[in-house]
Amino acid sequence: MKILVSNDDGYRAPGILALRGSLEGLAELTTVAPERNHSGASNALTLEMPLRVTEVAPASYFVSGTPTDCVHLAISGLFDFEHDMVVSGINHGENLGDDVLYSGTVAAAIEGRFLGLPTVAFSLRRPASGEPDFAAAARVARLIVQRLLAAPLDRTMILNVNIPHLPFESLRGFRSTRLGARHRSDRVVPATDPRGRQVFWVGAAGEGEDDGPGTDFHAVAEGFVSVTPLQVDLTRHAAVEPVARWLDGIG
Ligand code: MN
Repeated sequence: MKILVSNDDGYRAPGILALRGSLEGLAELTTVAPERNHSGASNALTLEMPLRVTEVAPASYFVSGTPTDCVHLAISGLFDFEHDMVVSGINHGENLGDDVLYSGTVAAAIEGRFLGLPTVAFSLRRPASGEPDFAAAARVARLIVQRLLAAPLDRTMILNVNIPHLPFESLRGFRSTRLGARHRSDRVVPATDPRGRQVFWVGAAGEGEDDGPGTDFHAVAEGFVSVTPLQVDLTRHAAVEPVARWLDGIG
């Protein structure tokens, strides 16, 4: 069993070190992660320049690219063996609802979707204050991977796991959830650069809007580990027929 470990916070981030540590002994582990933080990179692939891979420790590499670059390289020719699954994280900050569209953590997991086992993205909810403690989330990650190894799900399944920032003993359990949705994000924040030119910071994500029972937002807010099964197919299947009628006679 070979597991590829990646993330979007960069290869030195405490979350990926905690994730790798938590999986020790379950499988043969290889880390391939970005050189620097690529949070918000979504599924970006670098096409206009080459990628450089540096080995920092045995079976641990950083790449001068995005999370998707890392996983793409790792499963498409960097190694002379196949991986069985990809785990990504543990992200510093939750990836709930619309966040999955922007998340490099989820993107890294998605890039592993053609492998033999489901792929998993782990994110730890941001603590109210101070630095995050990844210990409980690491134990959760090990439990989920152990369950997957013992009872594999459909291999095209992508699991988006969000973990409340609580001591392990205070977690209330696990919930299978659907993605909720956020309100529109805050407005961009204008500022001035040192040369007097206007620049903008992307504002904070919106608060939960569709965040009731059954959603990932609700589970995490209630102290449960949220496990959302994702798929890549964004087709709005129920709209295929209505759109066909809408197009009728258009030209
Ligand atoms: Mn991140």
